[in-house]
Amino acid sequence: MSRTSKALGLPPLLLVAGYFLLALAPVGLAAMQARPSRGLSADFSSGIAMSALALLLAQFLTSGRFERTTGRVGIDLTMRAHQLAARLILLLLLAHPVLASAGGGTRAMPSTLATLVVNPSMLTGVASWILLLALTASAIWRDRLPFRYEAWRVLHGFGAWVIAALGVHHAVNVGQHNDRVMLTFWLVLLATATLALATVYVFTPLLQLRRPWRIASIQTVGDRLWELALEPAAAFPVRLEAGQFFWLTLARSPFRITEHPFSAASCPADLPRLTFLIKESGDFTGRLGLLPINARAYVDGPRGIFTLRGHEEAKGYAFVAGGVGVAPILGILRHLRAVRDRRPVRLLFGNRHVGQIVYRAELDALPRELDCAVQYVLSEPPSEWHGNRGVIDRSLLESVFQAPDRAEWVYFVCGPAPMMDLVERELMHMGVPARNIVTERFRYH
Ligand SMILES: Cc1cc2nc3c(=O)[nH]c(=O)nc-3n(C[C@H](O)[C@H](O)[C@H](O)COP(=O)(O)OP(=O)(O)OC[C@H]3O[C@@H](n4cnc5c(N)ncnc54)[C@H](O)[C@@H]3O)c2cc1C
Repeated sequence: MSRTSKALGLPPLLLVAGYFLLALAPVGLAAMQARPSRGLSADFSSGIAMSALALLLAQFLTSGRFERTTGRVGIDLTMRAHQLAARLILLLLLAHPVLASAGGGTRAMPSTLATLVVNPSMLTGVASWILLLALTASAIWRDRLPFRYEAWRVLHGFGAWVIAALGVHHAVNVGQHNDRVMLTFWLVLLATATLALATVYVFTPLLQLRRPWRIASIQTVGDRLWELALEPAAAFPVRLEAGQFFWLTLARSPFRITEHPFSAASCPADLPRLTFLIKESGDFTGRLGLLPINARAYVDGPRGIFTLRGHEEAKGYAFVAGGVGVAPILGILRHLRAVRDRRPVRLLFGNRHVGQIVYRAELDALPRELDCAVQYVLSEPPSEWHGNRGVIDRSLLESVFQAPDRAEWVYFVCGPAPMMDLVERELMHMGVPARNIVTERFRYH
C-alpha cells in the first residue's frame, strides 16, 4: 500500500506563464490572420474579449479540481487566483461591447451599443455576456441565493461552459476569427473544458463506483462536532499525506453530485481507515448523525498542500487551530507522534467554549509523546477556567511561540477566516516569512 501521495501539479511560475501565454495566444493568432484592421478601438475590443474567453476556458482546468494542474499551489491560492481571474474576465468582457461600438463599427459590428445589442447576429455574444453577469453575481452573492450550495456549484460549472461555448460561437462568427488555426485553437480549448466537466461529473464517479468505501463509525466528539470514520469496502490502495483533504459522498450515488470537502484528521499510519472531524454547519453536515453505519461512501482524493511536504527541514512546528480547523492539524500531530518526530511542536487551539475542545485527553497526552506544548484559549470560558481567555491575538502568539529561532519554524494555521487573517498578519509582523506559514481555508470567500 502506498502511504504518501506524489507531488502532482505544475510549478506555480509555469502556471502563471501559462495563463499569460494562453491570454495572449488568440491575439497573436489573430494578428497572424493578416486581416485588415477594423480600427484601433474595435481591434482592441476584439483582442481583450478573446483573451478573456481564453482565460474563461482555462478556468475549467485551473479552478481546483485537477491536481495535475494546481496540485502544488494548494486550494487556498487556487481559489484566490480563480476569483481574481473571474474579476479580470468580467472587466474585459464588460469593456468589450463598449469599445467595439466606440470606433464606429463595420458591417460585421454595428456602430452603436444599442444597435449592437439588438442585432440578431449578436445573439450568442449578448447571451454569453448577460449570462456571465448572472454567473458572477451568483458567485459573489452566493450565500443569499435561495438554493443549496451543491446546486449552485453544478450551475456554476455548467453555466460557465454555456457562456464559453456561446462566446466561442460569437468569436468565430461575428469576430470572424475563423481561419483553420484559430478555429482549432477555440475548439481545442472548448473540448478541454468539456472533458474537464465530464471528468468531474462522469468519469470520476464511474471510477469511484469501482472503489466503494463504507461508513465504519459516526460519533459525537464535541458540541455539534462529529467524528466520521470510513474504511474501504474492498481492497485497494489508499494514499494520504497528513493534513490533506478528500471530497466525500456519503450514503448516496457518486453521480448525485453532493460531494463535500473534509480534511483527514487521521494520519498515514491509520490507513486504510480515514477519520474526519466534522462540524454541523448546514444541511449536509447537520444530517451526519442520521447516516446508517455501513452505508456506502465515495472518496475522491487526497488533495491539498496543508502538509509537511517541503517543510521537512523546519526547526520546529507550530500549529494554530480555530474550532474545527483543528481537523487537518490533528492529522499532522498524529503523524508526528507516529513517526516519533523529535523536533519542538507547539499547538494553540482556540474555541468559543469548553464543549468545543475535541480530543482533549489525546491532546493533553501529547507532551508525553512529543516535545510538545498545548495551549487552549476560550472566548467564552467558564468561571473555573484556568487557561487563556479571549481570542487569539498578537500577545498570545508571542507568548506561545517564544523560541528564539521561531522564524525558522513552520506554522500551520486553520480556522475561521478572521482568525486566519489575523494570525497570518501577526506572524509576519513577528518575523515569520510567508513561506513558513501554511494555511487551509474551509470557505473560499
Ligand atoms: C479544503 C477544505 C477542507 C475542509 N475540511 C473540513 C473539515 O475537516 N471539517 C469540517 O467540518 N469542515 C471542513 N470543510 C468545510 C466543509 O466542506 C463545509 O462545512 C461543508 O461542506 C458544509 O456543507 P453543508 O451542506 O452542511 O453546509 P452548507 O450550509 O450547505 O454550506 C456552508 C458553507 O460550506 C461550504 N460548502 C458547502 N458545500 C460545499 C461543497 N460541496 N464544496 C465546497 N464547499 C462547500 C460553502 O462555503 C458554504 O457556504 C472543509 C472545506 C474545505 C474547502
